[in-house]
Amino acid sequence: MQKSIVTALVILFSSLLLNKAYAESSFNILVYHHVATDTPASTSVSPEQFRQHLELIKSNGYQVVDLAQALDTIRSGEPLAKPSIAITFDDGFNDIYTQAWPLLKEYNFPFTVFVSTDAIDQQLNGMLSWDQIRDLHKHGVTIANHTTDHDYLVRYENYDQAWLESISEKITTAQQRLETELDSELPKWLAYPYGEFNQPLQHLLKQLGYLGFAQHSGGVWQGSDFLAIPRFAAAGIYANPNTLKVKLASKPMPIDNSLLSDMVTDQSQPTLKATLLMPVDMSRSLNCFVNGRAHTAQWISDLEFTLTSDTALEKGRHRYNCTSRSSTGNFYYWFSKPWLVLPKEG
Ligand SMILES: [Zn+2]
Repeated sequence: MQKSIVTALVILFSSLLLNKAYAESSFNILVYHHVATDTPASTSVSPEQFRQHLELIKSNGYQVVDLAQALDTIRSGEPLAKPSIAITFDDGFNDIYTQAWPLLKEYNFPFTVFVSTDAIDQQLNGMLSWDQIRDLHKHGVTIANHTTDHDYLVRYENYDQAWLESISEKITTAQQRLETELDSELPKWLAYPYGEFNQPLQHLLKQLGYLGFAQHSGGVWQGSDFLAIPRFAAAGIYANPNTLKVKLASKPMPIDNSLLSDMVTDQSQPTLKATLLMPVDMSRSLNCFVNGRAHTAQWISDLEFTLTSDTALEKGRHRYNCTSRSSTGNFYYWFSKPWLVLPKEG
């Protein structure tokens, strides 16, 4: 055989191996807030809907994984035993204890609660109490950090030293409060309030030894940005079982995160440039949306595409989502890029 054919076969074989390892080594995280009928619709599922979700997960053959174990497995490049889902809750509302937990116990599903500690310390109505959080923790529920006061972390004029010290304080104080009340060492995980982060904040988390959890959609794989771990929202308009089923089955598009621009931008029509790390079996036809409205992405090379909003985005959070059907499996590759548009003042 000619040398060039051998080389081509080796490349083909190793890319197939990489793709196989890649496909088996991802999982999806869901994020909930309330399980109740009398709380804000956009962040709530009813107990009936929540049961429906748990049943959907079980009947479609997923295992619900302990988040720490799944992250360890994925980060070490190992495959997970079965298609896997992790369940998380943000904020620390009382209905997690009264409504969600009994159902999760019934299904024997592990889960994680990201808690903002000030609201617990102030015993605010509708929030968990420290006794309830201790009870959850004692029964194997993972408790993690959602800052002290749940304030915006990156909506500031300057990202200077004073800003860094102030947000560092909100993170480390919350961790201390949790660890003191639970009398245990907890994972160093931060769920960003409102899913808002920027590169200086990610750098701070890295220095402090934390992982960061965001609120844009997509799966987790070895190449994920572990300082902006995506999670699929499953409440409000996202509670629909048919769309949830598609998300559960999705795999992360293997985008090179190191080349993505900061979430915070002063551009009202920011351009996403996404670069695939490897040629997975996704279709060249991308289904892209800006805040839910269909947009056309442009391939600029075999592995790169760009997407720009066709209208000016208002100040605040926005998402570009792109999916693409696998040509060999019954699933979509999924990628979401969050933006926080903060126009320059004056
Ligand atoms: Zn929150």
